[in-house]
Amino acid sequence: MTQKQRPSSEFELISRHFARPAANAVLGVGDDCALVDITNGMDLAVSTDSMVSGTHFFPDVDPETLGHKALAVNLSDMAAMGAQPYWVLLALTLPGVDHAWLAAFAKGFFDLAEEFEVSLVGGDTTRGPLALNVTIMGEVPAGAALRRSGAKAGHDIWVSGTIGDAALAVAHRHGRVKLADDDYREAVMRLYEPTPRVRLGQALRGMATAAIDISDGLIADLGHICRLSGVGAAVELGAIPVSSIGAKHVGSEAGRAAIVAGGDDYELCFTAPANSRESIAELTDMLGVKLTRIGQVKRGKGVSLLDADGKPVRIDAGGFDHFRDA
Ligand code: ADP
Ligand code: MG
Repeated sequence: MTQKQRPSSEFELISRHFARPAANAVLGVGDDCALVDITNGMDLAVSTDSMVSGTHFFPDVDPETLGHKALAVNLSDMAAMGAQPYWVLLALTLPGVDHAWLAAFAKGFFDLAEEFEVSLVGGDTTRGPLALNVTIMGEVPAGAALRRSGAKAGHDIWVSGTIGDAALAVAHRHGRVKLADDDYREAVMRLYEPTPRVRLGQALRGMATAAIDISDGLIADLGHICRLSGVGAAVELGAIPVSSIGAKHVGSEAGRAAIVAGGDDYELCFTAPANSRESIAELTDMLGVKLTRIGQVKRGKGVSLLDADGKPVRIDAGGFDHFRDA
């Protein structure tokens, strides 16, 4: 980031780019704390996500896209919990003050915030290598949140949308797969501007027995459900819904690894008893989101991937783990 402009104070920066009326809050940006009013009978759902340049995004990422994604990944956590998001906090670490960059970042962030009617109520601004952290808060009826821990043997495993485009874009950037130019442009939009499934998450309350958003890869994230539920899972490779781009790459080893083990799609993976199949199918029409049954919860542990004959398929990649080699 260049520092072309006259250096401006932290407070000028905040008021210029981030102080906006907070419709949902008693008190928004400007004081020592924000104040929010919690509805009776609701649990407060809270989550935070950090994004570091070079780790979570390419350093040359378009700032508007980054603003969108920083909020989208947090909205996705609310979705996975079946919660209604209301309030966000934004902690920014910036190498310098670049008002054009900040204006574009704020546009991406606030456009999505408006779409989901969440208010930015506070944050922090410091100097250092580019990194951002968003904390999100929302509400869910007491006891109704979708946890990772409720899957039982025999339940169906479902995913929303299509899986793999975001990871295929990353694999293309790293030279592991080769996407056609048009395909890359489309896939990279799934990486940069994921659609958080907030309405779906809420609609699944009382229906899904466990849920997670796919940020680290289908196998890894379903693995989290299994671990916390004390069960195993069998997934049929051919049942995993892929886009027309994914369909071209599912035949190759690297393409398949990206689809089943790559992350960043921010679709929901959830489990539900077989007697919910009809109600879940109705959600597809109601919400315009494709929902696909990809396998079954089993006794035991771990996620196995099966071919059409029920034979195990080996995939040479786990989900993303920041400290795997540490
Ligand atoms: P403090 O010194 O109490 O931490 P700050 O000077 O850091 O307060 O922040 C002043 C106000 O601006 C606070 O209300 C804080 O929540 C808000 N704020 C700071 N940075 C941001 C940001 N990047 N986005 C939104 N609000 C921010
Ligand atoms: Mg501060």
